[in-house]
Amino acid sequence: MDRQSRYQRHSLIDWFSQATVRDARICVVGAGAVGNEVLKCLALLGAGSIDVYDFDRIEVHNLTRSVLFRVTDIGRNKAECAAARVRDLDPNVVITAYTGNILRDLDLASFSKYSAVICCVDNFEARLRLNLICKLWQIDLINTGVDSRNAVVDVFPFSQQSAQSVACYECTLPPSVYQRLSQRYSCGGLKRAAFVEKRIPTTVITASLAGSLAASKALRLGPGGALRSDRIFLDSISGISRPSELPVRVDCPVCSQFPAPFRKRPVRDLQAELARLRAEKGNSDITLPESLILSFQCKKCDAGEGHDAPLFWRASEHDSGLANCRACGAEGAVEIQITDRLPLDTLTKSGVRSLPLPFALAASETGTDVLVLEKESECD
Ligand SMILES: [Zn+2]
Ligand SMILES: [Zn+2]
Repeated sequence: MDRQSRYQRHSLIDWFSQATVRDARICVVGAGAVGNEVLKCLALLGAGSIDVYDFDRIEVHNLTRSVLFRVTDIGRNKAECAAARVRDLDPNVVITAYTGNILRDLDLASFSKYSAVICCVDNFEARLRLNLICKLWQIDLINTGVDSRNAVVDVFPFSQQSAQSVACYECTLPPSVYQRLSQRYSCGGLKRAAFVEKRIPTTVITASLAGSLAASKALRLGPGGALRSDRIFLDSISGISRPSELPVRVDCPVCSQFPAPFRKRPVRDLQAELARLRAEKGNSDITLPESLILSFQCKKCDAGEGHDAPLFWRASEHDSGLANCRACGAEGAVEIQITDRLPLDTLTKSGVRSLPLPFALAASETGTDVLVLEKESECD
């Protein structure tokens, strides 16, 4: 394909660098309504390399908001289908589809390759986790949100951060959000079995506003680049646009807890790493990116697990049904010990060789050690 003539019109724009766009390596999380618009823009602009994540399948109601999907695609995986259409739009774009859950499958060892991550999901956990990872790995994060009338694009230029100067997504959240989150979870991370997530109805108008602006910000199009975090709010009916600078919040659960610099440490031997941390920091806490179940026990019949050796089960893989005893059938009688913080000594004593998590954090005033954990082998 003749690149020069394909992108000839772009070359007439004095602030547009096709080389910069071609060198971009963008991670797009979510291939729904906003993800479609982001991918369409990245493809037509000639973005060099894209990884797209979505585990969801295409349903008939996606077709009113998804330019890359057709009636014949119903039932296909969203990421795979969108990737195929991007290749049709511009065969120069290298795009890879990931059909798993990003919170499980993200390869942190190669995460640093991205020039930006664009968050196009409607799920809060993924937003929070991507915010934390992008901050720790110092990758620009573009967060999008839409409703039936408005589009919001947040720009977090983490690649530019010197120490703590760049606000993160959690800096923008009011305490009420955490209250709402706790309604969804019965205790510390177990999803309520009967909880139905509320869907916000949208049209392609707001998805397209958010998607095109997010693509532009991720590619850092135009003169100058963001040095501070910004939120751009677009009202699709009045046409009013409100940009606002996002300040660092002193009590932000991420920024206040995990100070820079962020030292990434690939961990092969967890016990050796724990011993090193113990010698350096004493019996401090390890913070986990999500909750683990350590043990559970029935208050009626005493049946339980995890008291001799902690279970270290990912809470996200269980729901509040775990509170019903499998031995005696008593409903809600099981007490579950669940946590996202563990003292070093607890981990050492358990003799655990790996955790079912991609990373864990050990923070002190001198910075944050990011323990990048090896994936557990399938046969374990
Ligand atoms: Zn923050
Ligand atoms: Zn029981």
